[in-house]
Amino acid sequence: MVGMNITFYGVRGTIPYSFPKAIKFGSNTACVHCETKNEHIILDAGSGIYPLGKKINDDKPIYIFLSHFHWDHILGINLFDPFFQEGKSIFIVSPNKRRMQNYFKTFFDGVRFPVPLSAVASSPTFLSYDQVKLKGIKIETFENQHPELTYSIKIKHISTKKSLCYCTDNEIGVLKKNPSAYLKFIKFCENSDLGIFDAQYTDEEYQSKVGWGHSSISDVLNLSKEASVKHTLLFHHDPLRPDHELSQIVTQIQEWGKDHFPEAMYDCARERTRFSL
Ligand SMILES: [Zn+2]
Repeated sequence: MVGMNITFYGVRGTIPYSFPKAIKFGSNTACVHCETKNEHIILDAGSGIYPLGKKINDDKPIYIFLSHFHWDHILGINLFDPFFQEGKSIFIVSPNKRRMQNYFKTFFDGVRFPVPLSAVASSPTFLSYDQVKLKGIKIETFENQHPELTYSIKIKHISTKKSLCYCTDNEIGVLKKNPSAYLKFIKFCENSDLGIFDAQYTDEEYQSKVGWGHSSISDVLNLSKEASVKHTLLFHHDPLRPDHELSQIVTQIQEWGKDHFPEAMYDCARERTRFSL
């Protein structure tokens, strides 16, 4: 493997909620797998990390990057199989390593989950973002606009120069009221090969959700053009949004792309799709 293989295991926000009309895009909450030659990088540990854990069967180190601690981004973590496998090298990287270490203990306290902490054979290491040093990969973060301290995460492959921006739980509508912060975000995303953006709300829905920490579709489209993102994927879909509505959104954003930024590609993220950078 030369570059990075990126696979989506969870694309929804808020809560995993499965219903017959949500088969095409999937129902699991945030989890994106980025595999390189040397490591597994996992972006968030929503319910999608459960099926991902069953797929990882090599000895490469695993770095789980958490954007923040809201439930939809951590709720699958205690069912991640590699934790229970001796010899696995696992790092949990988050905005606050001490807080995460304490949360982790409570996940295995015997009350909320029957498996005790002593069964976690892999003994994960807790790190802050700035403590991660990966050979051939550069990681950058951006502090999002969200009620809880939350970060966007950029992964850049140094030899291929390809980059992935994972920007979830970020309210661009509020961020852009602060022009210097918005400009910083544009610079952060600039020329990304793949941009994954929280776009939970339609423009109409957003009117009654200002301050909730999520973006409207139009705000993401405009940002993607200003930052010249080559391939934009809308992410953190509302749990109740059925497949046919997401398909309509795909049509609308691709039409918008043809008119405003024809060099770029637009789509809605869906489970089990893979991208190679
Ligand atoms: Zn979320």
